Amino acid sequence: MRQRMELGDLLHQQHVDPSGLDPAPGRPTEREYFRRIHRMLPCTACGETAASTRVHNSPNHGPRWVDLCMPHMILTMKPAPRMPTTLEGILDDVREVAAEVGLTLRPISQEEWEETGRRAALRHGWRYRITISAPGQPTLDGVASDEETARERFAARVSKYEGTPGVRIVLVDLAERKTLDVWPDQP
Ligand SMILES: [Zn+2]
Repeated sequence: MRQRMELGDLLHQQHVDPSGLDPAPGRPTEREYFRRIHRMLPCTACGETAASTRVHNSPNHGPRWVDLCMPHMILTMKPAPRMPTTLEGILDDVREVAAEVGLTLRPISQEEWEETGRRAALRHGWRYRITISAPGQPTLDGVASDEETARERFAARVSKYEGTPGVRIVLVDLAERKTLDVWPDQP
């Protein structure tokens, strides 16, 4: 596995001129992130379809959008001393912090967690969700407001990750709580 690197270093290495990147709000809202990801822009570093977006604070040009494909997103993820990747890990961290400040906590169940995400997506008008997961990697979400677009994107992602071991792609209708398609077929 490649070493992690800072986003600024990646841009520098790829000779990306920050002045050519779209200006971003200093602190984008959830909706602004959703909207940006929804546009399926090319990765700033390599031109592949971006799977994530984030804001880079350029010293000379202020906050700018940087869209990244999955490999480049993983490459530039912020190194944390402990990066919990599972729900259990996150809850353990929250419990630890809560214990330190003398609070008791009712951890939410996986179902409640998913329900909160489902409602938030529907509030934004994103009825369809495409999830890309692979063992040991963060799960990537994509959203779409209509089924045709959602199915097109699902097919595009499948052809992109075809041959990548362990990748699983799921298309869900959040309003109907129905799984519309799963790749590969076997569970
Ligand atoms: Zn890339």
